[in-house]
Amino acid sequence: MGGDDVELSMRQEKILEIVKANGPITGENIAEQLNLTRATLRPDLAILTMAGFLDARPRVGYFFTGKTGTELLTEKIKKYKIHEHLSIPIVVNEEMSVYDAISTMFLEDVGTLFVVDVHSCLTGVLSRKDLLRASIGNQDLHSLSVHIIMTRMPNIAVCRKDDLLIDAAKQLITKQIDGLPVVKDTEQGLEVIGRITKTTITKVFVELITDEHI
Ligand code: ADP
Repeated sequence: MGGDDVELSMRQEKILEIVKANGPITGENIAEQLNLTRATLRPDLAILTMAGFLDARPRVGYFFTGKTGTELLTEKIKKYKIHEHLSIPIVVNEEMSVYDAISTMFLEDVGTLFVVDVHSCLTGVLSRKDLLRASIGNQDLHSLSVHIIMTRMPNIAVCRKDDLLIDAAKQLITKQIDGLPVVKDTEQGLEVIGRITKTTITKVFVELITDEHI
């Protein structure tokens, strides 16, 4: 697939100007105006069409869609789905001790653990601060089970794989949390199949800029 660069080349900018001024216009006519062959222009026209700047109609030619780079970027972001970006969830069982949960958090290098029952269904969430709170002044973290201190269902914000990433991001902001479990509905409850975190959103943000494709 040709790259649909956010940064348009000089020639692509020129093509846009020509189409803006003269569209609808055939590829042949654009090529004439630039003193180039139709074949030379083909990749540029494909890029501009794929990126959404131009549209092409058979036997009519190319015309300008009128969408700005920002509008096209917004459209693209609104299409991002959870399933393209989810990462592996780290789950623990309800009987795990707070001590072991803290070790798991370090070993797995995550900030949020999801607590599940025997059916792998979500029953709770453990954040760093939940574990810190339980640790302060508590002598025996080995005999304290995580289900005593976790945030429990039904008060857990979740998302599903076909949801929009932007909606998950909004939940992170409004609920002031670091992550959301991605769940699948089963007869036993909500099976945990992934996670979306602030890091996920940060990565996508950076990709939008560094990725050559919009
Ligand atoms: P931290 O407490 O380490 O800053 P969070 O901001 O994610 O991390 O967690 C704040 C509180 O919200 C914690 O008590 C945690 O159990 C709870 N929490 C975390 N994730 C969720 C979630 N998806 N839904 C509901 N509560 C959550």
